[in-house]
Amino acid sequence: MTFMTHLECTQTGQAFDPDELHNLSPAGAPLFPRYDLAAAREKFRREDVAAGPPNLWRYGPLLPVRKRDEAVSLGEGWTPLLHARRLGRAYGMERLLIKEEGVNPTGSFKARGLVMSINRARELGVEAVVIPSAGNAAGAMSAYAAAAGMKAVVFMPRQTPSAFVFECQGLGAEVHLVDGLITDCGKLVAEKKEAEGWFDQSTFKEPYRVEGKKTMGYELAEQLGWRLPDVIIYPTGGGTGLVGMWKAFAEMEELGWIGPKRPRMVSVQSDGCAPIVRAFEEGCEKASYWENAQTLASGLRVPAAVADFLILRAIRESSGAAVAVSDEDMLRCSWQLAALQGVLPAPEGGATLAALGTLLETGQVQRHEEVVLFNTGSGYKYQENMPLEGL
Ligand SMILES: *Cc1c(COP(=O)(O)O)cnc(C)c1O
Repeated sequence: MTFMTHLECTQTGQAFDPDELHNLSPAGAPLFPRYDLAAAREKFRREDVAAGPPNLWRYGPLLPVRKRDEAVSLGEGWTPLLHARRLGRAYGMERLLIKEEGVNPTGSFKARGLVMSINRARELGVEAVVIPSAGNAAGAMSAYAAAAGMKAVVFMPRQTPSAFVFECQGLGAEVHLVDGLITDCGKLVAEKKEAEGWFDQSTFKEPYRVEGKKTMGYELAEQLGWRLPDVIIYPTGGGTGLVGMWKAFAEMEELGWIGPKRPRMVSVQSDGCAPIVRAFEEGCEKASYWENAQTLASGLRVPAAVADFLILRAIRESSGAAVAVSDEDMLRCSWQLAALQGVLPAPEGGATLAALGTLLETGQVQRHEEVVLFNTGSGYKYQENMPLEGL
């Protein structure tokens, strides 16, 4: 039912059994599921995808869940790829597209990752899960844990907008508010999880969230008639989406579904927390810790990412870029996106539009190019962080 063969350490290439529970590899790096793509190429075709369900399970054989018919699902994925005509016109562009991830269950693309990690954890006998989160990941985990009948424990910064706390509590999770950042939440999780018997769902610290996120890459290709755009602009915190899509493109080429052409991958961060942008500009392979991280986009308040080297590698291999934008621009662009496209975006979504403005000014993106902005979440949960005075 799945073509998954093994897990591979992204640093050493060492192989691991996917039917045992894993967090990071012994080398301290993320693990990637690998598939028998040669077999999949023969047995699973684009026509089979087209005949599949209108959610991310249409790519089921290329996902790690073994028993799909028993899997928990809330209808995640297969989100609209909107042609932003009015917004595009304001920027002098014909082909400006928005991948609208705000319509996922729990209002963000985090649903894609967590549906995969929770289903795998369930298949491997886990009964309690824990996550350090800036908000959306915790909401998604709480929802899927509830559907799967698992105990959910959440550690969130006290600064997180209250709708995220409400959501997790409403979905039955045990919520701990922490004075500090997501990295401080992560430290608490690491300290407590073993004694408590909680399985850690942190970004890249288990092998399967990235597999859910990679489906954004598959969808993009399928929705464009099995080709890819010129540029993808993506708001980057832990980087799962960017790294996942890059993995999806390589898999699709091996499957014979697309050619070698790749989009330029642009990573957007807030200038109040831009470790990846700084590392990219300095030519570093890894990013160093960002002190005093601050931004109203809680999903981007991530001062250190375990997969920093994978994010930077994908940006460079794609001849892409990394751009920091101010919170002020992020907010202005969020309201512009709302007014000209009818989508109330998360500030992280607004950040992609702010980055587009910069890239057009510097000539790194041309107006005739086809550009996809990722609105990674809905704005509905961010009310305290998004003052309407900015409108
Ligand atoms: C988590 C989050 C991000 C960052 O996503 P990564 O894949 O971890 O880089 C961006 N936008 C929103 C709305 C988020 O919730």
